[in-house]
Amino acid sequence: MKLSVSNFDFTRTWINVPCPACKLDSRIQLRDVVYKRAAICRGCKSNLKLKDTYDSTKLGLRKITKQINNIFR
Ligand SMILES: [Zn+2]
Repeated sequence: MKLSVSNFDFTRTWINVPCPACKLDSRIQLRDVVYKRAAICRGCKSNLKLKDTYDSTKLGLRKITKQINNIFR
């Protein structure tokens, strides 16, 4: 199997997001942030705001992908 850059999918990384209402950590995938999906707190069922982190996450992912592309060049 040939290794390709497309195998690196950082959007499948899980992160912990603290609920602003009940402070309970919910595990969400980075892809939920990137694609602006709504995350529901597993404790109080309120919506977790992923919008705030969207731009920085997307920017970070792009940076990482670019660096990996450079490695294989
Ligand atoms: Zn909550």
